[in-house]
Amino acid sequence: MADQAFVTLATNDKYAKGAMVLGKSLRNHKTSKKLVVLIGRHVSEPSRAVLQTLYDEVRLVDVLDSGDTAHLVMMQRPDLGVTFTKLHCWTLTHYSKCVFMDADTMVVANIDELFDREEFSAAPDPGWPDCFNSGVFVFRPSNETYGKLLEYCTEHGSFDGGDQGVLNGYFSDWATADIRKHLPFIYNMSSIAIYTYLPAFKQYGANAKVVHFLGKTKPWSYTYDTNQRRVWGNVQEASTHPGYLLEWWSLYSSCVLPLKHQEHGEEPFE
Ligand code: UDP
Ligand code: MN
Repeated sequence: MADQAFVTLATNDKYAKGAMVLGKSLRNHKTSKKLVVLIGRHVSEPSRAVLQTLYDEVRLVDVLDSGDTAHLVMMQRPDLGVTFTKLHCWTLTHYSKCVFMDADTMVVANIDELFDREEFSAAPDPGWPDCFNSGVFVFRPSNETYGKLLEYCTEHGSFDGGDQGVLNGYFSDWATADIRKHLPFIYNMSSIAIYTYLPAFKQYGANAKVVHFLGKTKPWSYTYDTNQRRVWGNVQEASTHPGYLLEWWSLYSSCVLPLKHQEHGEEPFE
């Protein structure tokens, strides 16, 4: 449906790489939905050009320049910069329903069925399962909700300093109100599960539809050897998401890098 979209966010070139891989993975799995990426002003022109080829809509969100309520709220809570940018997804009111996905996620199967769910649906956070993880969620754009979220931010801030704290505070009945709003973990599987509950990962891991590279080290923090098809970096960390990390890099090098070449001639910027 034309009025439904997957939405992601990248405020800089590093996260833009993630958004490129995510966009490509959604296309490869033949989504019928629109793809939207919200970008910050620090995303470079070359990255924007590549994002344009993968996404239906590349929308610049500049909370600092906006001069609206978001700007005023931001002045009171300068610590929540990226969070405000993420909340902006509620202003995409030309869509009736959206699925937000962090730029550090990658789909490994078609997930269009998520649009059968209602706001606010999300999967449990592996660290505190009574909270949802805000890396993948179903929502309905609405200026009214957006306003209320900003209001909530000003009054209560974020208990974890990020969007997950704000959203869990605002949608605080998620844990108990309606089990249909609990997305199965396979829609937001973080590799943390591999070392916190290995038997479950062995049993269910193959069903994963979305992989989330949650945490400090992101796929783009490693280096990749195209010839040997190997990932270099902190081996111990890399071994906690072995196959998926390779899959991310293989998508990046086979599908995203050629786009960069195409957009910028023989000298890709990275
Ligand atoms: N993000 C961004 N720029 C930043 C930090 C975060 O664009 O400097 C966006 C990006 O979409 C990212 C999401 O906010 O995936 C949440 O941050 P992150 O994935 O780093 O948090 P984690 O999932 O590791 O808790
Ligand atoms: Mn994330």
